[in-house]
Amino acid sequence: MNIIDGKQVSAAVKERIRAEIERDGLDIGLAVIIVGNDPASRVYVNNKKKACEVCSIKSYEYALPEDTTQEQLLELIDTLNASPNVNGILCQLPLPKHLDEKAVIEAISPLKDVDAFNAVNVGRIMIGDYAFLPCTPAGVMELIHSTGTEVSGKECVVIGRSNIVGKPMAMLLLHENGTVTVCHSRTKDLAEVCRRADILVSAVGKAGFVTADMVKDGAVVIDVGMNRNADGKLCGDVDFDEVAPKCSYITPVPGGVGPMTIAMLMQNTLKAKRLQIQDEQ
Ligand code: NAP
Repeated sequence: MNIIDGKQVSAAVKERIRAEIERDGLDIGLAVIIVGNDPASRVYVNNKKKACEVCSIKSYEYALPEDTTQEQLLELIDTLNASPNVNGILCQLPLPKHLDEKAVIEAISPLKDVDAFNAVNVGRIMIGDYAFLPCTPAGVMELIHSTGTEVSGKECVVIGRSNIVGKPMAMLLLHENGTVTVCHSRTKDLAEVCRRADILVSAVGKAGFVTADMVKDGAVVIDVGMNRNADGKLCGDVDFDEVAPKCSYITPVPGGVGPMTIAMLMQNTLKAKRLQIQDEQ
């Protein structure tokens, strides 16, 4: 069994991005919007700002109060859409309940939508002709590639069908010619379906959800889950100690998919800059 080191793979991606930005003398800015005081969102935003520093990308933080109105938020997005200093715009989710997340996502210019959540970019991912990669699924693909595992022809099972992880994850595996099954809360005989997987990706959000009896010997297991266990410690969906001995490769939590998501965000921000340069010409 091999543990995939997401921190190491992510550091290599960020270093490649930094070298490219410095080589081409690019001046790149990412606007990060955070509304309210959610502590988890604050940690994510700080990590994204740190990654920007590593990659030589300028980050502009917009920390708005909890009672920000929809109009105020949309007005800020309009300003950022028009700003030549801002190449990417990210609005940290979840937003406070009174704000309409869907409308906010759609307000971001597709050319600056570095999370690739906007319907235009989601549609492009579906047809396989995309500028921006969906960050978490793209990070998972990098981790799979880092093992030398060929996806083509493999049985791939994704647990979870959310718009930000499960569905785009299935698409990326399909684009690489995996035979993909997507499972969810209504799936019958989930353990049996998962046991077919050469590549098993879990994005459920429940600690200890994937147990050893759900995993085929020699499978590659990627754990997207980010949960807290009974002791408040960060953990994934996979019962790591039980499952790891059965796998050829497995990602840990923390230190697996999480750092990759941020590295892919940096890659998308660089891509956004290049697209905007092209658009101006
Ligand atoms: P989500 O929107 O809550 O989706 C969870 C999915 O799991 C749903 O499709 C749900 O099925 C499925 N599910 C729930 N219970 C199940 C069960 N008993 N059997 C089979 N499927 C079940 O969550 P998400 O946004 O995709 O995130 C999933 C996890 O990934 C969370 O822990 C989140 O924190 C983590 N995450 C990590 C990163 C990262 O960078 N590492 C990024 C994003 C998310 P239904 O659709 O039928 O309800």
